[in-house]
Amino acid sequence: LDLKNEDLKHLSELGSGNSGTVTKVLHEKSATTMAKKVVFIDAKPTVRKQILRELQILHECNSKYIVSFYGAYISEPHICMCMEFMDKGSLDNIYKKWGPVPVDVVGRIVVVVVQGLTYLYDVHRIIHRDVKPSNILVNGQGQIKICDFGVSGELINSIADTFVGTSTYMSPERIQGDQYSVKSDVWSLGISVIELVLGRFPFAEASESDDEVPEELRGTLSPTNPSRRAGQGGARAGVSLEGTGAQMSILDLLQHIVNEPPPRLPADGGFPHSLETFVDTCLLKDPVLRPSPKDLTTHPFVVESERDKVDLKAWVQTLV
Ligand code: ADP
Ligand code: MG
Repeated sequence: LDLKNEDLKHLSELGSGNSGTVTKVLHEKSATTMAKKVVFIDAKPTVRKQILRELQILHECNSKYIVSFYGAYISEPHICMCMEFMDKGSLDNIYKKWGPVPVDVVGRIVVVVVQGLTYLYDVHRIIHRDVKPSNILVNGQGQIKICDFGVSGELINSIADTFVGTSTYMSPERIQGDQYSVKSDVWSLGISVIELVLGRFPFAEASESDDEVPEELRGTLSPTNPSRRAGQGGARAGVSLEGTGAQMSILDLLQHIVNEPPPRLPADGGFPHSLETFVDTCLLKDPVLRPSPKDLTTHPFVVESERDKVDLKAWVQTLV
């Protein structure tokens, strides 16, 4: 598909994150509804062209666990990426509206993320880098897919250079600016799973009432790039917020993630034992001990969830 702005009819806003804005559009020539993500890159046109070249790998990322890619183009000074539109939206919006996600549905979500990450790494050597509920999407057919993984090194650097870089889903090793691997995605999955089954971000209770992270800042910090700044005196020195007041609480939260025991599911929460051990193994602080996505494919919770026949179509029909 040869995509350009003129051919895309704006339908509605879907949301915005740190890196850009997503809108629902209609590509009239092909009668295809798409989600168009517009990312502002404060870089030279040559860098934008390089990013566009790197994004072409997305055409080869074909898996039922991954949102399909239609194409990308430059609309100076932005980069536009068009992807499959998922009509039920992302899991963060779903649980905020409908409450905790049922454990059997979370089982399906875990299978999708584990298999999707395994595919991306085994086939394309891609680390996702941004696993979180807003990057797991659902459609009316009951399909669940992941999106927004880091395919373009230039894009990752450019975004880090502008304003995004750190998220509270980041693993301890990544917060510290250490080398990180695909196991970092497993940590982010563990945090996301607790969030989905409890219906709230797991660190909210860990912070003192007066330094609680404000809702709008949860999950995201800016501007920073710990891995780059690590050489300049440590990640923590580089973390700051655009707003004021919340600065310390974000620092405290990151420090908490690095220094304190990882979050766990409540022992009296009535969750299956296999889910409790799944979360515990994802949240092993030492990346050497933590499993890779591929290792997780044999975890009892994943094996049971693959076997389980969950009617996801019936579940999405409750979300109206
Ligand atoms: P973030 O993932 O940090 O929330 P994004 O800019 O990636 O920020 O996305 C903003 C919102 O747009 C998401 O939270 C999600 O609800 C929605 N969205 C993104 N991609 C799609 C898509 N392909 N289909 C439907 N909704 C989407
Ligand atoms: Mg996203």
